[in-house]
Amino acid sequence: MARFGLVNAYLVEEDEDLTVIDTGVSRSEKAILAAAARLGKPIARIALTHAHVDHIGSLDDLAAGLPGVEVLISARDARLLHKDMSLDPGEPQRKLRGSYPGARTRPTRTLAPGDTVGSLEVVAAPGHTPGHVAFFDRRDATLFCGDAYTTMGRVATTDKVRLPFPLASMATWDPATELASARALRALEPAALAPGHGRVVESPAAAMDAALAKASA
Ligand SMILES: [Zn+2]
Repeated sequence: MARFGLVNAYLVEEDEDLTVIDTGVSRSEKAILAAAARLGKPIARIALTHAHVDHIGSLDDLAAGLPGVEVLISARDARLLHKDMSLDPGEPQRKLRGSYPGARTRPTRTLAPGDTVGSLEVVAAPGHTPGHVAFFDRRDATLFCGDAYTTMGRVATTDKVRLPFPLASMATWDPATELASARALRALEPAALAPGHGRVVESPAAAMDAALAKASA
């Protein structure tokens, strides 16, 4: 895990190489590369939970230094990465929120739920953005949940702006969809919750239940 102020990027270790989950704000690439060097393995993949600025900020600079790296994002959020801000007819017609600066780097493969990225399974978790995904590590049941939950201060869903950490929720596209995703992620029974914002929470079931209860109240 690499922390950049309020934003996390993660390095997930495989036998031979590493997967980076999210790239932080701009100028995070050096710290990500340094963390990879400490682990002594090459970065083979960059997997993105969604296309918001604080998760793709260092994508171009990181990918530029890693020839041949795989770049992975959901097909839906790939459109946002290309600055296509259109909504599909079947989607909630709500305003896209948060910053989508786009990137020059193109995905080498787009992801669908059920796909695998190394040891990670791609799990649909739309709502914060239309194509937001989580990554579930089947080896130890760590759930990299992106912005579906935050853990700044306490575990919270991002459907509604709540203290103490309103920032992620302010960028949420569709609250009802986000809440349904938060429930679906809870059902995976994660052993650890590794969010985009906040610390990694071990044995998060009770805290996730409390967050869901608060959101439904
Ligand atoms: Zn976000």
